[in-house]
Amino acid sequence: MNRLFLFLAALLLGAAPAAADILVENVNGYTLREDGRLARFQAMWIGDDGKVRQLFEAGDRRPSRTAFRIDGRGRTLIPGLIDAHGHVMGLGMGALLIDLSDTNSLQEAQARIRAYAAANPSPRWIVGRGWNQERWHLGRFPTAADLDAAVADRPVWLERVDGHAGWANSLAMREANITAATQAPQGGRVERVGRNPSGIFVDNAMSLVERAVPPALPVTRDRALARAQEILLSFGVTSTADMGTNAADWETMRRAGDLGQLRVRIFSYASGIDNLLAIAGTRPTPWLYDGHLRMGGVKLYLDGALGSRGAWLKADYRDAPGQRGLPLLSDTELKNQMSRAAMDNFQIAVHAIGDAANAELLSAIEELSDTYKGDRRWRIEHAQIVDPADLPRFGRNSIIASMQPTHETSDWQMAEARMGNERLAGSYAWRTMLQNHVPLAFGYDYPVESPNPFPGLAAAVSREDAEGQPPGGWFPAQRLSMEEAFAAFTRGGAFASFAEDRLGTLEPGRFADFIFIDRDIFANLDQRAVRETKVLETYVAGRRVWAREN
Ligand SMILES: [Zn+2]
Repeated sequence: MNRLFLFLAALLLGAAPAAADILVENVNGYTLREDGRLARFQAMWIGDDGKVRQLFEAGDRRPSRTAFRIDGRGRTLIPGLIDAHGHVMGLGMGALLIDLSDTNSLQEAQARIRAYAAANPSPRWIVGRGWNQERWHLGRFPTAADLDAAVADRPVWLERVDGHAGWANSLAMREANITAATQAPQGGRVERVGRNPSGIFVDNAMSLVERAVPPALPVTRDRALARAQEILLSFGVTSTADMGTNAADWETMRRAGDLGQLRVRIFSYASGIDNLLAIAGTRPTPWLYDGHLRMGGVKLYLDGALGSRGAWLKADYRDAPGQRGLPLLSDTELKNQMSRAAMDNFQIAVHAIGDAANAELLSAIEELSDTYKGDRRWRIEHAQIVDPADLPRFGRNSIIASMQPTHETSDWQMAEARMGNERLAGSYAWRTMLQNHVPLAFGYDYPVESPNPFPGLAAAVSREDAEGQPPGGWFPAQRLSMEEAFAAFTRGGAFASFAEDRLGTLEPGRFADFIFIDRDIFANLDQRAVRETKVLETYVAGRRVWAREN
């Protein structure tokens, strides 16, 4: 009797939500409508296919019989958020590896590394990320000697917070066969102390050390993907673009999908043409695993980041005369690679941060649009520093601006140092993008920034950082309304990955991907209150996939 009961209960719990309809009622519900305006609802009917069947306002007639009912207890319900630019495996691996992103000084970082080495005797290579000499107020890059002072008897390799530079200790350089004679490859730079490499390797030069790091084992990668999904769902992110999927990433995602362990929906963009052709072949893949995974395009890099002065600028860096950053691809290489992907109807997403990189990419898209017509949704990733003269060019070919609001609030002081205020009028220009009818898609570029979308929403509406700096916002004319910012974090991300017919809103026919949150973000909250929003429960296709523990 008891066993039979348990068996039936397990059957119901395991199979029922996907196989029967659900009424979610007593909620303070919001979604966006086709016209971009906010719609409110009190109840939502979800079909047995995991899609929204109908929304109900007060007084609407509800279905009298549904298999399941969920009482929302008056809490605020919104669509699951979509991150338009993240790095899924980077997030998961980062969560397993040493993380220096919250260290405030070199000394603190050294102590962290020493403790990690003691607590983790294997693997032998100590790998991590997140250091930022700006945050440490170091006034210079750290060196191999700084790292040797923490750990000298095991190789150590640590990526900068933006992923555009790496820091090696002496043993790591020795195992990578790096000597005074080592030259940086094209698109890279080896920092030196006199003739000797200092331990810092910028952009393409990072490969000099990376190739000596033993690859992660599949079991570690599986753990990393599980961890990444847990983190994303805890922040209410139900779908994400993965910007730069390689073969090992794809295999990890497929292993999870085969086992029914993909909970977050992933829009995959292959890391470069070789991965694209090896993984997807001759066309975008179909949606796999009930709409949880699809490779639709390719991610290319045209330049680096502002922090490491790798962003490609039209004029010299103000704080480094003679330097303008580097294009990572020649004009011909860029157009050849874009053509190769476009001819097989893949979507193209290109990283461009500096004003020279954005101008070059806009020209390439304008030229290729003559050949590759139709609904292409060319994507410019970051579009951070744009010459105001180039801003209207985004609208002409319906180019998607894939931007990260928290980059603005994290970087504005550094951007002023690198560029000077007078050259920043077209920077992080969200309002101008919308005025030019440019589709906006927002993300966090995690793990560069935490994937928590609420600081991103707060940044988008205020252009103030967590401390409220600068008061009133940096270039405040570029602030967005909460509805506009929310659209870029939901519908915008779906549109940017050709998924707006299935995701991004809770209109009938879309997947019931939604979250309960602890406050009403549309009730004119102070940006600090928006920033602190907590997700209570996360649902994908009507199924609860994460809940906060009390
Ligand atoms: Zn990125």
